[in-house]
Amino acid sequence: MSLLTDFLDEPKIAYFSMEIGLRKEIPTYSGGLGVLAGDTIKSAADLKLPLTAVTLLSRKGFFEQDITPEGRQIEHPSEWNPSDFMELLPEKVTVEIEGRAVSVRAWLYIVESIVGGRVPVLFLDTDMEENSPEDRTITDYLYGGDRLYRIKQEIVLGIGGVRMLSALGFEIKKYHMNEGHSAFLTLELLRRYRRSIEEVWDEKLIWDTEKVRSMCVFTTHTPVEAGHDRFSHDLVARCLGDFIPLDVLKELGGEEDNLNMTLLALNLSDYVNGVAKKHRDVSRVMFPGYEIHAITNGVHSFTWTSDSFKRLFDGYFPGWANEPELLVRVEKIPHEEIWQAHMEAKRHLIDYVNDTTGTGMNHDTLTIGFARRATAYKRGDLLFRDIERLKRIAGGKVQIIYAGKAHPQDEPGKKTIERIFSYIGELRDSIKIAYLKNYNMEIALKMVSGVDVWLNTPLRPLEASGTSGMKAAHNGVLNFSVLDGWWIEGYIEGYTGWSIGPAPSELTPDEETADRRDSEDLYNKLEQEIIPLFYNDRDGWIRMMQHAIGKIAYYFNSHRMMRRYVTEGYL
Ligand SMILES: *Cc1c(COP(=O)(O)O)cnc(C)c1O
Repeated sequence: MSLLTDFLDEPKIAYFSMEIGLRKEIPTYSGGLGVLAGDTIKSAADLKLPLTAVTLLSRKGFFEQDITPEGRQIEHPSEWNPSDFMELLPEKVTVEIEGRAVSVRAWLYIVESIVGGRVPVLFLDTDMEENSPEDRTITDYLYGGDRLYRIKQEIVLGIGGVRMLSALGFEIKKYHMNEGHSAFLTLELLRRYRRSIEEVWDEKLIWDTEKVRSMCVFTTHTPVEAGHDRFSHDLVARCLGDFIPLDVLKELGGEEDNLNMTLLALNLSDYVNGVAKKHRDVSRVMFPGYEIHAITNGVHSFTWTSDSFKRLFDGYFPGWANEPELLVRVEKIPHEEIWQAHMEAKRHLIDYVNDTTGTGMNHDTLTIGFARRATAYKRGDLLFRDIERLKRIAGGKVQIIYAGKAHPQDEPGKKTIERIFSYIGELRDSIKIAYLKNYNMEIALKMVSGVDVWLNTPLRPLEASGTSGMKAAHNGVLNFSVLDGWWIEGYIEGYTGWSIGPAPSELTPDEETADRRDSEDLYNKLEQEIIPLFYNDRDGWIRMMQHAIGKIAYYFNSHRMMRRYVTEGYL
């Protein structure tokens, strides 16, 4: 009996994502997009949705991060062994790239929910003997290499993925593209459902775009222009040959010289969404003429709640993990118990920080956390804009924990890490600051549950949603964030957390002005509201922790998100 027999009994949603983060031992993710994909799959398993996921094996991961004492990032391949977690399936398919047949196989990982649901995840792999040495490396590095490497990966994911699902016997009723990386799947579907020329008598009408559209759902994830994948028409022609005639391709996804994967997905999907309401609005301006909806992201509650809060919630709200709405009555939990659960998570984090960095942090000091991809728009060093003021406000009263990787080719992102390191040195005598290496899902959980305040300072409107703040809220950690992405929907000032900078409706001025205004507001609130509340009104602080749990975790979870995808996108 095949390993897959259990899954072939009913038609499935096929969820395609270039990266998926399920657990830290499977390093096939780089950041928010992949972790969201993992949370999506876990909620699908909990809710027993008929879903199967497809991604690349990324044998060498994104990378392991080391950092020199000067703050220079060094990248090492992530070594992991797929057979420790997955079963190699016997089926194989081929895709044609640059005229060569490239073989693709799949590893099966099964996500099992504690309530019994199971979702199969297929990890595509080209490291097979019959492939050329170069083609064997296509599924090595997540987001590695040049444009040629990237287009080969996307051909394997999109075209290889659809073929693999068929070869395994899956019947698919919807294809969900999590970001444009997998949009080549639409071309495979166009070929599959093409009409015969005798039927339509016109070359152009053989491509049944309506049929394909009715089968596809697309989620766009970034308002950053460079985040939308583009390939030159020359490169596409070189790799795909006449898979789809160039004029048809240009019509479906062409800009002047490039194929734009986002346009391709937009034109061939029946349902399209951004990942927060603000992001929907921004996407509509970026892509006028398309009907773009909003499904605000969520996080998988069970995955992103610390052990101490899990125990607490289990006691008061049995079944909360599969019904996070139960957290709405968090006020039932006495302040004392909330604080104990928080201090347990905080001690874990602070001890880890002290063991790994020797920073000598303290369990009782107000602790601020900031961890995300080190890339320019996230402004990881905004906190240091006025060093003297920061010293006056926070000296002796605040300690700060950082983490985050920069993409290997993102020099400005790497420079941000270097600058943070130099501030750490400069402030050594007044503020304890640590930078944890190799940010991953495990460190993320430690951080989002172990700090007191979760800081976020993106340059508006470039944060599509953001999810780490939702994880923080599951642990009663208070968000202090620029009003962008999900936080516009989550904040009630001084009640669920604090905002930084102007109201969402105000336009963003030039970057210099935005940096100045945002950092001033940050310093003011830290000095006048956050530090006094933490040290002088512990009950007031704990009430805000309850609001974060009861009003944010209650809503910003991936169970709610998946129900929205089902009712709006899949059905
Ligand atoms: C949740 C998570 C992210 C995403 O955080 P954002 O605040 O949305 O940028 C990135 N990396 C890891 C490891 C995460 O767990």
